[in-house]
Amino acid sequence: MFPFPKSTVLGYPRIGPRRELKRVLESYWDGRATRAELDRAGAEIRDRTWRRLAELGLEGLPSNTFSLYDQVLDTAVLLGAIPERYRAAEDPYFAMARGTEGLAPLRMTKWFDTNYHYIVPEIGPDTVFKLDAGKPLGEVREARALGFETRPVVLGPVTFLLLGSALDRLDDVLGCYEELLGALAAEGVEWVQLDEPALVGDRTPEELAAVRAAYERLGAVRARPGLFVASYFGDLGEALPVLAGTPVEAIGIDLVRGGVPAADLTGKTVVAGVVSGRDVWRTSPERALAALAAVRASRVVVSTSCSLLHVPYDVEAEPELDPALRSRLAFAEQKVAEVVALAAAGFHGPAPAGPSVALSGPVVAEGRGPYEVRAAAQAEHLRLPALPITTIGSFPQTGELRAARAAVAAGTLTPEEYERRVEAEIERAIRVQERLGLDVLVHGEPERNDMVQYFAEHLDGFAVTRNGWVQSYGSRCTRPPILHGDVGRPSPITVRWTTYAQSLTDKPVKGMLTGPVTIVAWSFVRDDLPLRDVVFQVADAVREEVRDLEAAGVPIIQVDEPALRELLPLRRAAQVEYLEWAVAAYRRATSGASDRTQIHTHLCYSDADEILAAIDGLDADVTTIESARSGARILGAVETFGRGLGPGVYDIHSPRVPGSEEVEELLRRTLRVLPVERVWVNPDCGLKTRTYEQVEAALANVVAATRKLRAEL
Ligand code: GLN
Ligand code: ZN
Repeated sequence: MFPFPKSTVLGYPRIGPRRELKRVLESYWDGRATRAELDRAGAEIRDRTWRRLAELGLEGLPSNTFSLYDQVLDTAVLLGAIPERYRAAEDPYFAMARGTEGLAPLRMTKWFDTNYHYIVPEIGPDTVFKLDAGKPLGEVREARALGFETRPVVLGPVTFLLLGSALDRLDDVLGCYEELLGALAAEGVEWVQLDEPALVGDRTPEELAAVRAAYERLGAVRARPGLFVASYFGDLGEALPVLAGTPVEAIGIDLVRGGVPAADLTGKTVVAGVVSGRDVWRTSPERALAALAAVRASRVVVSTSCSLLHVPYDVEAEPELDPALRSRLAFAEQKVAEVVALAAAGFHGPAPAGPSVALSGPVVAEGRGPYEVRAAAQAEHLRLPALPITTIGSFPQTGELRAARAAVAAGTLTPEEYERRVEAEIERAIRVQERLGLDVLVHGEPERNDMVQYFAEHLDGFAVTRNGWVQSYGSRCTRPPILHGDVGRPSPITVRWTTYAQSLTDKPVKGMLTGPVTIVAWSFVRDDLPLRDVVFQVADAVREEVRDLEAAGVPIIQVDEPALRELLPLRRAAQVEYLEWAVAAYRRATSGASDRTQIHTHLCYSDADEILAAIDGLDADVTTIESARSGARILGAVETFGRGLGPGVYDIHSPRVPGSEEVEELLRRTLRVLPVERVWVNPDCGLKTRTYEQVEAALANVVAATRKLRAEL
């Protein structure tokens, strides 16, 4: 077996340093670019990546980490798992990813605890697996033509099947992997990386047996490359001895999220992930070197904790960042340099100084009375009809508004003129809601580019980047803010917009805030404080905003936590503790409000049933939640929910306008499981991505259905 190179990374960003892939993909989808242009752009990104990694001194270059859409979808194609209905499409790959006129796309969901989304493999009992190794072999050859030997990266069989809920098909799939190993060996490939992130979650004895069977069998392939099984996003736990007992030659261990394994791994190569692929901070060389020294194995290779897919390309592309902050940052390029430096002997640079550490204060005592007391005070104060109708917060974001925001940033529009335009949008949203007959109005959030970035821009302790894009799914990228210091709220953020909206109407207007867990989940967060403490700092800032909104006479305040579930740890043992502090942070943010101020929250995922108890623990007076999109499945679990609840009555993700009978039917089903005094009527989520035309038609039907039911009460 060839020795494993001394330094490597598990994967690299692929959208392009200036989002080149995004642009060409979207042009291709619109018919403005040809397939040849798309392929050329992909080749340029791969070429640039290999050259850059080699220039930086990295020894083990990965290949097949590029994807036109998603690496899980690529694996499905590699194994021939293309559902029959897509085969006739003009472009089956993008048909599965995005759907076509007549075909819905495959399901998409979050990749472990990241904000990256993968395409869920659809595997049935009659899926016929058949290897199509064109992509990995093509990349190996392409790199070789440029003078680089590479290690193809492929999703491993166990994780692939677990993601597709089809572990029973292991035998069939392993046939393809065996064939792939043979083909790679014939190509002269020395090492292959099989990613198995699913092994860091809780695995049953049967699943661990599948791991053993899979790698015994692949290890037994006679002519094959070295097998490198990469785990990431946590501790391998019981899966480590299982893997170590198979013939795989190298095991990748995430030493940032998990500890140094106590096990003696002599006989194996350990690819030690000491440079974090999940944050934007420079690595402490002392800590990394200590971890590397503590690993007991025949060979220790320096690596990243996971693919660098989850961080932006280059700190050098951020000249506007404060130099003190910049010196603490490492994006993909800088992380590769760190891996190389750690692998080279004699790296003894000083650790960058961290920010002053401020521990959070004691948890504020609960200020609010019990739900029943508050509900009575609010009923008296708000005088809402039965089945009150509201929305989730955002109204359609028009192109003109986005253009105005860009213009004010570029200095071609005055801030005063911009504010006037925002006010005009608020007025438009208010008039529409009044005319339709909604009960609790919103200002529509026209001032926000994004529900997290907007708050990050107005809080101390956050920085926003210019080019720090991270792929979210397909061509979609986000620019997560960087939470680098102590959080503070220098002045009120939302009060002026909410009070402006309230000045236009006699109906109650609810103030709209993003919750502390969500702000933190969608940012890159400082690593010198426990996450919990950082979340509490943000909670305090939100608490101040709640206080100011209340003081300005805002009667209802919504604090959104759509990311509550996203931060849920992968292992059950850690979930209870997380939910405890996450819920406590939410209460800290909201418990300063008086009993008669109604607190709403909003969450948006269909599998909320599993954390419903935690949602109840948030103690919000009203919770609005996505429901219609998943066929109102959540109604089966809400009977015990003790507060106001608005299971969404229509799916906002599609342009389709729901009929009033459809809304009525959903409301009737809701009323069968919840007492009428606690039921709210609202869409599944914010309306930002829809047009006014769609929104007005849909809400008119919602109002009609609600009125019909009210008349029957
Ligand atoms: N208030 C936000 C909106 O309506 C909530 C968005 C979300 O749930 N992600 O846009
Ligand atoms: Zn939502």
